[in-house]
Amino acid sequence: MSLLIEDLTKKFGKTTAVNHLNLKIEKGQMFGMLGANGAGKTTTFRMILNLLEPTEGKISWNNEKINYKSSQIIGYLPEERGLYPKLKVSEQLIYLGRLRGMGKATILKEMNQWLERFKVPEYKDKKVEELSKGNQQKIQFIASVIHRPELLILDEPFSGLDPVNVELLKEAVIDLNKSGTTIVFSSHRMEHVEELCEHLVILHNGSPVVKGNIRDVKRSFGKMNVVIRAD
Ligand code: ATP
Repeated sequence: MSLLIEDLTKKFGKTTAVNHLNLKIEKGQMFGMLGANGAGKTTTFRMILNLLEPTEGKISWNNEKINYKSSQIIGYLPEERGLYPKLKVSEQLIYLGRLRGMGKATILKEMNQWLERFKVPEYKDKKVEELSKGNQQKIQFIASVIHRPELLILDEPFSGLDPVNVELLKEAVIDLNKSGTTIVFSSHRMEHVEELCEHLVILHNGSPVVKGNIRDVKRSFGKMNVVIRAD
């Protein structure tokens, strides 16, 4: 079982956002996608999510072409966080869970477990707009995993978070991966990828410039303390 990306290209007019990308991400991997602004990370994720049509190439998960039903088995934390400010956290998660085909009781069970884990059980009755940005990000993270996806795509999950929340989210990501979830996440920062992933790709102007096992990559490039762009 794997996520297979074959010769993936996306053009927006004259801009080539993703340029002949080939990746094989095995089930159970934690895979890092590094790149500066405009490298093509978000565009790649949107194609994996079937939200954007590739110009060329194809994507499959477990040998099945990605299609409109894939959102049932893929979780997505988008870069532009998009919660409804006026809804209570519980209403928000029920709404998003239902879009994934879940029943209310299961949504509430998952929600309560995650809020407990993040030590904020009282948030379920708060309106999204009452929460800090960091706490809204936690809720968005819960929304992306509430249906227990097989494959989890996280677009810059740690950006804009204070160190305590970065650690909290990292631990959650590690535990999900240990329990079998395949995870692909993007970052501007090598240190996050280095800490969490065994495999990575570095994108530049839509093209993969380095990819493979992180140990091999480091051996080839020496000690990489790359901060492609500070958050
Ligand atoms: P960031 O870290 O800033 O989110 P990214 O690596 O996610 O960057 P993308 O958002 O995928 O990069 O953008 C890749 C390129 O494609 C950029 O040049 C961007 O301006 C362009 N692009 C992305 N979406 C569109 C669009 N809908 N229409 C036109 N150009 C786009």
